[in-house]
Amino acid sequence: MPENEQERPQLTASMVGMIMKCGPQFIRRFGDRFGIWPEAEIIPPNQSLILGKSVHKATESLLRKKMQDELYDSIVAVAEAGDIARDNVVGEFSGEVYFPGKSRIEISQIRDESIDIATNLVTVYSAEVVPIVSPSYIEYPFVLLLKNFDFDLSGQIDLVEGTSVRDTKTTGSNPGKFAVITPQSAIYSLWYYNKYKSLPTSIVYDYLKYYRGKNNISYSYKEIGALPSKKWIEPVYRRIEQIAETISLCQRGKVDPLNAWSPADSTSWVCTAKYCGYHSTCKFWSGREE
Ligand code: SF4
Repeated sequence: MPENEQERPQLTASMVGMIMKCGPQFIRRFGDRFGIWPEAEIIPPNQSLILGKSVHKATESLLRKKMQDELYDSIVAVAEAGDIARDNVVGEFSGEVYFPGKSRIEISQIRDESIDIATNLVTVYSAEVVPIVSPSYIEYPFVLLLKNFDFDLSGQIDLVEGTSVRDTKTTGSNPGKFAVITPQSAIYSLWYYNKYKSLPTSIVYDYLKYYRGKNNISYSYKEIGALPSKKWIEPVYRRIEQIAETISLCQRGKVDPLNAWSPADSTSWVCTAKYCGYHSTCKFWSGREE
């Protein structure tokens, strides 16, 4: 599996995650890239997407400063990163956003709240993560060419540190017991194996957590130590094979793309108007607002 840039459709870990959560959602958002849907139906971002993107940009700036500047000054770096987060949130809210049923005043309150959350999460990251990491690479993009498929695997690794891979998540809930056993972890391991011919010694997820209404910000991490092994990468690889077969069936008109993978569990928060921008035109919608 050589690593290279190429003009072929690219499957990412978050797409695999989306297929597992809701097939129709994946088809409508990304099916066009695989020639199985007319065009991408892009839903404007909601609060969690805006926070994720804004905080990510700011933490990247902190890490770059730490990596490049021998005289790293955390006070200056945090102030700058906070500005990056704030500017990003403001920029996102100046465009189209997805807050069904919310008035303009309510959306502007959510924007102000998001600025506070984002800047506080950056401060937490600066205190908890930056001091303990020595980055080898930051935002490392990769493409894994898959010889036997019509697409490749791609992604971007937040942070590589020696033999360890690290990823930052912003989340409004506590990560579950198996939160780290994901296609993302397996694909990171595949990438690492492809590059170094050995598996990473660990994959660490840094969780920057916010709880709305409680003004509560906190940090925790989860680490896969001995786990990144072929034993659990194999099932993900098989799932990718299944995805390729299903895409091929859709391309040949043998399967209706909207029925290719299961829709979201109708009891899940995923299938609510609050979280799914496709609900109003989706025949599988649970009918729940939130
Ligand atoms: S409404 Fe439910 S089933 Fe339909 S795309 Fe959204 S999450 Fe999937």
